[in-house]
Amino acid sequence: MSKQKISLDHSTVALMRRLLKEGMRPYLGMVIAAIACMAVSAGSTAMYAWLMDPIINKIFVARKAEYLWPLAITIITTFAAKALADYGEAVLLSRVGLRVISDMQHRLFSRLMALDVAFFGINQTGKLMSRMTNDVVAMRFAVSNALTGAGKDASSVLFLVGLMFYQDWVLSSLTFFVFPLAILPISRLGKRMRKVTANTQEQYGLLSTYLNQAIQGIRVVKAYGMEEYEKRKVHDLVETLHELTYRAARVRSASSPIMEMLGGIAITVVIVYGGTQVIALADADPNRAGAFFSFITALMLAYKPLKALASLNTNLQEGLAAAARCFEIIDTEPAIKDRPDATDLVVREGNVRLEGVFFTYDGAKSALDGVDLEVPGGKTVALVGPSGAGKTTILNLLPRFHDVTDGRILVDGQDIRMVGMDSLRAKIALVSQDIVLFDDSIRANIAYGRFGATDEEIEAAAKAAAAHDFILSLPDGYDTVVGERGLNLSGGQRQRLAIARAMLKNAPILLLDEATSALDTESERQVQVALEHLMKGRTTIVIAHRLSTVVNADIIHVMDRGRVVESGDHNALLAQGGLYARLYALQFAEENSGGTP
Ligand code: ADP
Repeated sequence: MSKQKISLDHSTVALMRRLLKEGMRPYLGMVIAAIACMAVSAGSTAMYAWLMDPIINKIFVARKAEYLWPLAITIITTFAAKALADYGEAVLLSRVGLRVISDMQHRLFSRLMALDVAFFGINQTGKLMSRMTNDVVAMRFAVSNALTGAGKDASSVLFLVGLMFYQDWVLSSLTFFVFPLAILPISRLGKRMRKVTANTQEQYGLLSTYLNQAIQGIRVVKAYGMEEYEKRKVHDLVETLHELTYRAARVRSASSPIMEMLGGIAITVVIVYGGTQVIALADADPNRAGAFFSFITALMLAYKPLKALASLNTNLQEGLAAAARCFEIIDTEPAIKDRPDATDLVVREGNVRLEGVFFTYDGAKSALDGVDLEVPGGKTVALVGPSGAGKTTILNLLPRFHDVTDGRILVDGQDIRMVGMDSLRAKIALVSQDIVLFDDSIRANIAYGRFGATDEEIEAAAKAAAAHDFILSLPDGYDTVVGERGLNLSGGQRQRLAIARAMLKNAPILLLDEATSALDTESERQVQVALEHLMKGRTTIVIAHRLSTVVNADIIHVMDRGRVVESGDHNALLAQGGLYARLYALQFAEENSGGTP
């Protein structure tokens, strides 16, 4: 099967632009308001530094009392303005950041639901879960950091540096000679960061997958005594994660001390040079001290936003790597989707026909190798054959979980690839071996068959599926919550719920994969009754594991290695003495001698 290739531009600029365009455009108003708050905050910061000049010169040096109160009021106003602006900015940015996450989660999940079954075969659950959780959070930090960085830190630096040049341009030039030296190591760190974190997120995905498997499969793990094996697997992965996270932390920690060191050098230079000047020129220019204080305050205040700007790149790369992974899913086109000219499927008799159907899952080995098969409306066709023969594949092709590789499948003469998927699936009920129950009430689980069904309809379906009585005997009847995966129900009970669900759906075509797991005679009989009700009047394709089903089928197709090798009814096939006769001898004879059917 050809897998859709995604071409995604992974460059920082392209990703940033896409994040801004798709993530933030709806919140442009809030973003602008946040940027306005940042400007106010940055301006206030520069104001502090500027105020040092009059404070030193007018009050401490010249001792002018009339300046005291106006300056005090200006100082408190500046602080108040900055406090308000900081609050506004923080609130607005959280809002935008969180919205970006939620929107991305909505988009991711809708895309997941739209993607075809093959996609989930290729991509592990844990990996997909990690996209929805870890990655979107990392993305949020990228978005808010980029905004704060670009808005607040950059404008603070701009104002403060402007002030420094205004106060003393020689000293400023000298100081800023040092900073460009920092750019090179910092940008290197950014690149390393992105590599390390990309790897980390991958491993996190793997961890979720392992956990999922080990927890869901806990019975198997215990039954086979594989606890140690699972522990080792998870242990190794946790250690790898530890190593990677630690490496990321080391990279992250490096950018701060580099800046710290450079800051130290800059401040030393300033104090030595500026101090010399103040000492030498104290008498000639008494305002020198104020300007110098203002300068050094600006330099110290600029230090923090500069440092933040320096680590901005590393943080950003972390988030961008996550964004790239999210976009990858969002950009994956479902391989199976409605044609633009799709019409609704119209079912009259419910004839199903497979014409020369070939199918391969992986493009290499064929699972179906030219299958022709006819199911007349309302009749029951049983598929039997050794495992791996292709029986389940036929059931998968009908609701278009996969599309045929070659040939076609017709329902009442309409190619199923030409009709709307919703209309096709609405006409098909599927009862598979692995019964999926959701952690919800029995009622909700049956209602999954037809959304919006009334309580009466649900009960009628349960009665027809021979499930009503056992449901009433549960502590809360129809409101009993079945627990994750229905673990507190017996196998037969789960099957009957699945049958009730299909009953409620009341679709003309029924795909049935009978459970192979042995039920006790009583459950078996009840399931049998339920199935008979369900199959009545519907076109049924059943993968038969029970002799009774086989014997009662209108026609039996025996499959082997992707082909139909024998067809006919039970007696005819037995008389033929071929594969069916051998399978019968192996599989059903014992059941038959037990006298069940
Ligand atoms: P049956 O239901 O008769 O046991 P299946 O239809 O499940 O057989 O399988 C038919 C063939 O397709 C087998 O060779 C099986 O290995 C292969 N197959 C089934 N499912 C997949 C899958 N998801 N990916 C790749 N190969 C698959």
